[in-house]
Amino acid sequence: MKQDYYEILGVTKNASASEIKKAYRKKAVQYHPDKNPGDAKAEENFKKAAEAYEVLSDPDKKARYDQFGHAAFEGGGGFGGGGMNMDDIFSQFGDIFGSAFGGGGFGGFGGGGGQRRVKGSNLRIRVKLTLEEVANGVEKKVKVRRKVQADGVTYKTCGTCGGRGQVTKITNTILGRMQTAAACNACGGSGQIIDKRPSDADGQGLKVAEETVSINIPAGVEDGMQLKVPSKGNEAPGNGVPGDLLVAIETVDHKTLKREGDNLHYDLYVSISEAVLGTSKEIDSVGGKVRIKLESGIQSGKILRLRGKGISSLNGYGSGDLLVHVNVWTPKELNKEQKDFFERMQNNENFEPKPEKSDKSFFEKVKDMFS
Ligand SMILES: [Zn+2]
Repeated sequence: MKQDYYEILGVTKNASASEIKKAYRKKAVQYHPDKNPGDAKAEENFKKAAEAYEVLSDPDKKARYDQFGHAAFEGGGGFGGGGMNMDDIFSQFGDIFGSAFGGGGFGGFGGGGGQRRVKGSNLRIRVKLTLEEVANGVEKKVKVRRKVQADGVTYKTCGTCGGRGQVTKITNTILGRMQTAAACNACGGSGQIIDKRPSDADGQGLKVAEETVSINIPAGVEDGMQLKVPSKGNEAPGNGVPGDLLVAIETVDHKTLKREGDNLHYDLYVSISEAVLGTSKEIDSVGGKVRIKLESGIQSGKILRLRGKGISSLNGYGSGDLLVHVNVWTPKELNKEQKDFFERMQNNENFEPKPEKSDKSFFEKVKDMFS
């Protein structure tokens, strides 16, 4: 069970942006790796706080988190958001502590002061899904224009930083006297500079290429969710790692089916004679048309539940139902013969309403549906 982001920062759900920032600053100082060398627990807390702040400081992400909890970022097949690396954390410090912390990472942290691997930038696309695609999950192939290393490009070690990607300096900060590291300007922090540059490459040895990327979208996603395809963003120069492809999910309304969580609702209209005599009707479902039988004497307002014919759950457990709402259509115009018939039935015992226990009221049915 993942810990609640508000709980991690020790703030309430109503906390303002500045309260959230203040709370995070406190945690970051408390658990900072330079203050807790070799303390794995502190490092874990440090990362957790950073992840919580990353979400709660971004109005979009915060809204999604408030609505869906952790599921908004990680359910199903690889939703991004969680698991920040140290470089991500330190790069957000510029906003938190002021410019002294911006940009580069802290020297010596994260495995013996090895060179940082520069990450390419993320790409963002939107994907529109029909309800049928949402219900069953779908593989989408999209064309993406991304930066890749040009054919024939080579890189060599940066002379300015000796391949470390950063230059260190001693600064006085609110955390005390610290050795901070800034990204090397000559190589942009990658530790490498371009050696052979092909004619179609930019200054970093990259060129734009169109690529078809296939995205596996799990069943049960919702409008506004974001999916991450790792390493399909822009490539980085040298031995850097590619950024990610972030896929925003957009859902298209269905003509006749309405979604509510994992359940679907369908409004079925039948004539008075069909309701009296019984009938069978073809209705829409996410798996195609389905034929359902209506018993003679079916009441208007009856809800038929087709189990498992809803949306497959995002967490992988089961599916919702398809709820068919029966509406009996009362004719507005009648010819003489029809009018005579209904007039004769006016005091007929068979036409008298006699609701039984099983004909639950609308409110009881709604209550059942959500229980
Ligand atoms: Zn350099």
